[in-house]
Amino acid sequence: MTVLVVNSGSSSIKYQLVDPVGGGAIASGVVERIGEETGSLTHTFGGRKVTRTDPIPDHAAGLRAVLALFDEVGPDLASSDVVAVGHRVVHGGSVFSTPVLVTDEVVDQIEAISPLAPLHNPANVTGIRVARELLPDVPHVVVFDTAFFHGLPEAASTYAIDRDVAREHGVRRYGFHGTSHHYVSRQVAQFLGRRVEDLNTIVLHLGNGASASAVRGGHAVETSMGMTPLEGLVMGTRSGDVDPAVLIHLQRNAGLSVDEVDDLLNRRSGLKGLAGENDFRALHDLISDGDEGAQLALDVYIHRLRKYIGAYTAVLGRVDVLVFTAGVGENDDVVRALATAGLEPLGLELDPNLNAGRKKAPTIVSRDVSRTTIVVYPTNEELAIARQAVEVAEAAGLTGEESDDSPAAAGHA
Ligand code: AMP
Repeated sequence: MTVLVVNSGSSSIKYQLVDPVGGGAIASGVVERIGEETGSLTHTFGGRKVTRTDPIPDHAAGLRAVLALFDEVGPDLASSDVVAVGHRVVHGGSVFSTPVLVTDEVVDQIEAISPLAPLHNPANVTGIRVARELLPDVPHVVVFDTAFFHGLPEAASTYAIDRDVAREHGVRRYGFHGTSHHYVSRQVAQFLGRRVEDLNTIVLHLGNGASASAVRGGHAVETSMGMTPLEGLVMGTRSGDVDPAVLIHLQRNAGLSVDEVDDLLNRRSGLKGLAGENDFRALHDLISDGDEGAQLALDVYIHRLRKYIGAYTAVLGRVDVLVFTAGVGENDDVVRALATAGLEPLGLELDPNLNAGRKKAPTIVSRDVSRTTIVVYPTNEELAIARQAVEVAEAAGLTGEESDDSPAAAGHA
């Protein structure tokens, strides 16, 4: 069986045809610049990569073009046993704590949450609507980025502001990257031959977006992103934590509009704001050339990351596993070394030899004596979405497959 995983952005559609049992990506691609003068579509299957650059007026045209490329380049979807379409949705608000089967009501609810994620949820909804029209015979499942953090303790999810105002406007900490934190915290337990119920884990998802989570016995108890994916760690283009009064100051005294502050903090801050580059490879090159702004950007990034490691150690009390994942976490040994340097008193002892280089597979990078096992575990959000989609479709009796080795029976999530 296979699952088509779809991630719709405001002007893009990323997709992957996934084997949820074996874990492989059978085909993948991306539609970009939807609604612009020049669109682009790249589809990869069986070692063949096909690129088209026709204009793509809207998401429906984009998905139609994707389905045409499946016909032309392969694999043939009709004979690929597609048991579900899994959609990534960024914000599930206070409503959704688990992945759910798509119904008209679910689509309306996701749309109603849009004020909390104005850039993401409307695009996700468009993608779901279009996909349901074009693939009407397959169950569609939505997997929410916030769901893993739905059960955060109230002490962690509550902002200390007027309770009535907060309640009326949905102002609380929701957390994001939940699919990745959930997947990685579970998989790493399996990798170490431990029960997830027995482990306290800190997951550092360090990509262009970045977030940390503290997971006790498989349940998230703290995470760094808040009402939106802006809070917390320093990111590629996002500021992470700032004093909220900075926003007031910029609007009241510097004359910036609400949209300008939004743009500043989300797209012109983080590494990009400090160094002009949001990619760590470019940042390291600048540092090698003696660029002081780039060095400061790295220092600020690492300082913030270490503060969160310390804070989450206090939240958990005992940390069994520290996991690095996503683009930076998997590839940047300098970041991993700086993040953990000198933290032996907290039980973190990185092994420089094991840590060296990029990690394409799960790897233990701490010394045997380290109280906390430090692991690099590559995340795979598409696979996580595919497996959850199968579980939901199977539970609803919609896949026609009830084998003992199904992901649900095997305990994957
Ligand atoms: P992601 O959002 O998980 O795809 O991560 C993207 C980020 O990973 C990029 O912006 C880079 O900062 C970082 N990255 C990717 N490859 C490397 C690499 N080889 N070395 C260092 N950083 C990398």
